[in-house]
Amino acid sequence: MNYSELAPSYIRAIAPYQPGKPISELERELGITGIVKLASNENPSGASPRAVAAARAALDEISLYPDGNGYALKNALARRYGVSFDQVFLGNGSNDLLELAARAFLTVGDKAVYADHAFAVYPLAIQAVGATGISVPAKDYGHDVDAMRSAAVKQGAKLIFIANPNNPTGTFVPGAVLLAFLRALPANILVVLDEAYNEYLPEECRYDSVKWLGEFPNLIISRTFSKAYGLASLRVGYALGNSQVMDMLNRVRQPFNVNSVAQAAAVAALQDTDFVQQTFALNRRGMKQITDGLAALGLAYIPSVANFVSFKIADAARIYRRLLELGVIVRPVASYAMPEYLRVSIGLETENGKFLSALQQALTENLA
Ligand SMILES: *Cc1c(COP(=O)(O)O)cnc(C)c1O
Repeated sequence: MNYSELAPSYIRAIAPYQPGKPISELERELGITGIVKLASNENPSGASPRAVAAARAALDEISLYPDGNGYALKNALARRYGVSFDQVFLGNGSNDLLELAARAFLTVGDKAVYADHAFAVYPLAIQAVGATGISVPAKDYGHDVDAMRSAAVKQGAKLIFIANPNNPTGTFVPGAVLLAFLRALPANILVVLDEAYNEYLPEECRYDSVKWLGEFPNLIISRTFSKAYGLASLRVGYALGNSQVMDMLNRVRQPFNVNSVAQAAAVAALQDTDFVQQTFALNRRGMKQITDGLAALGLAYIPSVANFVSFKIADAARIYRRLLELGVIVRPVASYAMPEYLRVSIGLETENGKFLSALQQALTENLA
């Protein structure tokens, strides 16, 4: 028998998430070394040494279950953001939060809204619970939050996912626009504001969404230790929101969804504000290096406020494969309805340089 037929039709219809290619896989395939991976928006300088030391120390206790209530980390986050303990929720990566928000609040027949070109996990999370996703057309590749609100109201959606900045476009909705959006939105529609790249926002783009929680009990802020904090492999993210909403998330999570090594590393990472600041500064320089380089090659890109940038290139699939042969992994974004784009994460100066010269070589060959 075909066992896939035992799964509900909405599960069978899921198109699996396509992760960036791991370095080890390309090494196996091509037998080359010195590969540069600029495909998953990871921190090119690694993690804070304080976080790594805390993770090492926590290894001594891996035979014990972690603190299922995440006391130390939730406390540290509550203090950092001036919210109460029960307004903090921990996830196995923020990916976990996104799925748990869908699981807690959506069921078959419910609707949820996101934007065209938005992070791929939203439609996956919605579909996995049998709810219906509504993708709203983007404006210049960015979220059109007014159109998203109208669609949600008109179609009776329960949940809206907003990525700010969005991945893979790097586009951004200004804080004032978000605030107006929240004020105009009926309070019975939940908003997951995914701020995975929050720490990378240039000064002039920063806004204080945590402050809005008092006014909007329907707001769920989602953040992660995977990106600027450099803890992608440990899988730890957090949500801030109304305690009743957090309570519902707690009911559907695994009892021990965040491991003890991750919790210890995250507490230490949160304290190392210098590391985050250095990461931010390195990224700004790298973003300039890469966008200047793209412009010099005559390539258009979508201006980005995150740690990656998507650029337009003829024959993107072929260029992607050629870059792999040249030892540079970037990210194809055809599955985001952007077949003529590639996304590159900002790396170290030398990695960015290697990417730009490989790209130049691939383009030159294309003309030949
Ligand atoms: C990377 C990313 C996340 C999730 O990362 P985790 O590692 O699961 O915390 C969430 N949202 C967006 C937009 C991302 O790009």
